[in-house]
Amino acid sequence: MYTCGPTVYDYAHIGNFRAFLFEDLLKRWLKHREFKVLHVMNLTDVDDKTIRGSQKQQIPLKQYTEHYAKAFFEDAKALNIEPADVYPRATEHIPEMVSLIKTLIQKGIAYKGEDNSIYYAINKFPDYGKLSHIRIADLKTGARVKVDEYAKEEAQDFALWKAWASEDGEVFWETELGKGRPGWHIECSAMSMRYLGETFDIHCGGVDNIFPHHENEIAQSEAATGKRFVNYWLHNEHLLVEGKRMAKRYGNYYTLRDLLAKGCDPKAIRYLLLSTHYRQQFNFTFEGLDAAKSAVERLTNLMRRLRDVNGESSGEKLAQLTSQVERCFGEAMDDDLNVNVAFASMFDFVRDVNNLIDANKLTKTEAEQVYSLLTSFDKVLGVVGEVSKEEALSMEAQELISKREEARKAKDWKTADELRQKLKAMGIIVEDTAQGVRWRREKR
Ligand SMILES: [Zn+2]
Repeated sequence: MYTCGPTVYDYAHIGNFRAFLFEDLLKRWLKHREFKVLHVMNLTDVDDKTIRGSQKQQIPLKQYTEHYAKAFFEDAKALNIEPADVYPRATEHIPEMVSLIKTLIQKGIAYKGEDNSIYYAINKFPDYGKLSHIRIADLKTGARVKVDEYAKEEAQDFALWKAWASEDGEVFWETELGKGRPGWHIECSAMSMRYLGETFDIHCGGVDNIFPHHENEIAQSEAATGKRFVNYWLHNEHLLVEGKRMAKRYGNYYTLRDLLAKGCDPKAIRYLLLSTHYRQQFNFTFEGLDAAKSAVERLTNLMRRLRDVNGESSGEKLAQLTSQVERCFGEAMDDDLNVNVAFASMFDFVRDVNNLIDANKLTKTEAEQVYSLLTSFDKVLGVVGEVSKEEALSMEAQELISKREEARKAKDWKTADELRQKLKAMGIIVEDTAQGVRWRREKR
C-alpha cells in the first residue's frame, strides 16, 4: 500500500489529515481482516513548493523541510495514526528517479526539451487519461508544462527532470540527465516501485491527486515496466469547513496545531474525520466536533463501566447482541469502509449493553467478552486506547452509589442529594435516567 505523503513545506491541515486518517482506517481494517500490509508513505521534500518556501525563509532546503517533517510526525502521533513501514524521502531517492527516467528515454517515451529539461510525451502512452478519464485526442500534444501542479484542461507533456534554472538556487543534483532536479510525479513512481515492486495492490490519495499526479504516475510506471502499476486506487473526497472550501482567505483554514491550540481533543478530531465515508465530501464544524467528543466518551465510559460489572446472566441476550454487532460492523467495513453503518451498529450495541448493565443483567465474564469485542473495534477506530483498571470505580464510590440508590428508593431525597455531592467531589457524576442510574467521570 502506497499513500502519497505530505509535501513538507507547511504544517499539515485538517484536509490533509482527512486523507491520512482514511488511509489509517483502511490499513487497520485490512489488518483486522488479517491481511499483511506493507505501507509506504513518501515525504515530498523537494518540489516547487518546498523550494519556494525555503527561499522565502532563506534557509537551506533540508533545514526547511526537516522542520515540517518533524511536525508531521508529531501531528500523526497526536492523531494516533499508525506509522507506515517506510517513509522514503524524495531527496534520498534521486538515483532511482534518474534510472526510471533513463528507461523512459530509451523507450522513446521521454525526450529532452529546448530548455534541457526531460519531458514525458503523453501521446506515446495510449492509456494516458485512463484514471482521470480525459481524452488524449482533446489534448494539445507537444505543448509542455514544467510546473508540478496544473489542471486537467492544461494536460500536456510534463517534466520528469527539470534542468537547473536560477530560481532553483542551491537545489540541484548533478546526474547523467544533467544538472537539475526531479519533477514531483516521478518521485512517487520511483519510490513506490522501489519498495513495493512494479505492481502493487493499493494506492491512495486525495481526489486532488487524481490529475495530474496519479495519472502521471501511471503513465511513467506502466510505460517503463509494461506492467500494470496499481491494482486498486482509493481517493478520498474534499473536506469543507463550516460549509466552505477551506482557505486562508476565508478564515476557516485549520492546521491540526491550530485545533489543538484551541483545546480540541485529538481523539474527537480523529473520530470526526473518520466518521464520514471517505468518498463523501466532509463538512468539518465545531458542532460536529462536540458530537464526536460525546461519541468517543460514550464508548470510553462503557469500557470503564464494564470493569465494575458483576451482575446476573443476560441469558441469551448478550450472545445475540454480540453476533449481530460483529456481523453488521464487519459487513459494513468490508463494503468499502462503510463507516456510517458500522459506527451506527456499534453505538446501538453500546446502548443495549448499557441497558443490560442498568438492569444488572451482565455477569463479570460477559462484561469481559464485551470489553474484548469493543477493544477489537477500537483497534480499528483508534479513539479509546487502554482503559486502565484505576479508571474503574473505587469500592468507596461503588458503596456511595448503592447507598444513594437505597436512599432514593426510600424517598430520602436529602441523603440522596448529599451522596450525589460527595460523589461529585470525587469527580463522579451520577445521573438518574429512564434506564436507571448511570455514572461518568467529570470532564477535566
Ligand atoms: Zn504521490
